[in-house]
Amino acid sequence: MKRQGTKADMLKRLQQKVQQIDLGGGAFWKPQVGRSTIRIIPAVGTMEFFFKEVGQHYIGNTYYYCPTVCNDGDSKRFPCPICEVNEALYAAGEKEAAAQFRVGRRFYMNIIERPAPPAKDADRVQIFAAPQSVMQVIISLVGDPDYGDISDPGIGFDLKIDRTGEGKESKYATLPGAKPCALSTSEELLEALLSSAKDLNTYVGEKIMSYDDLAIKSGVSVYIDGYEDKVEDEEEVELEEEDEDDEVELEEEDEEAEVKPSQVLTSRLNARLAVRKPVRK
Ligand SMILES: [Zn+2]
Repeated sequence: MKRQGTKADMLKRLQQKVQQIDLGGGAFWKPQVGRSTIRIIPAVGTMEFFFKEVGQHYIGNTYYYCPTVCNDGDSKRFPCPICEVNEALYAAGEKEAAAQFRVGRRFYMNIIERPAPPAKDADRVQIFAAPQSVMQVIISLVGDPDYGDISDPGIGFDLKIDRTGEGKESKYATLPGAKPCALSTSEELLEALLSSAKDLNTYVGEKIMSYDDLAIKSGVSVYIDGYEDKVEDEEEVELEEEDEDDEVELEEEDEEAEVKPSQVLTSRLNARLAVRKPVRK
């Protein structure tokens, strides 16, 4: 469909569009290539530690928070449909398909980035979604009596992160500062930093979807029993099913009484993901 309008209208629409794009993580701090020096802010609010372990499923360009991993791995109270599908596909021998639904682990922490001299203090708290490689170094520092709680605002340590490579090739080397130092040079600024740090339990908790929402929005519901009716209510799925050939639909009817043939389900799942990908913002 062709859009009517002047260039000014088009620009306006473009600007509105780009403002709506959610890059998922745009608010997060990321180490640039080269060296960055950061300081971790101690636990605030309901946080027990200075970090919050988070599980993410990356499907069709979108991150979904894993309810199980985000709740300390408690799959009984916080089941995750995507993890369940991941396990079911592995059990069915569909290793490649299963890999798409794997959970990735990140460790969220409030940090400040130390500005380059001559500026002395950072005043902006950001969230760093630390990868496991960085967290491993942090864990070993905390366990080492020479360092201990590196987030201590008085006698903790800065961290130097050297990043090489871009995207999936990114590698991080993490080192502690040479000696302990204060988080901030003034009481006043320290208070300001602590009060602007986010309670990461709340922050993540608010983003976790219910089991049903997660199953349907991520698309894995097609692989789970009992979602036929719910899924068929969705317009997107009806569009997708029109594309499917009769043979698959016949097999689908047979599924009611029998064990689900995993290959048919896997192809339906892949078809659904393929349909969803371009729609994702
Ligand atoms: Zn999960």
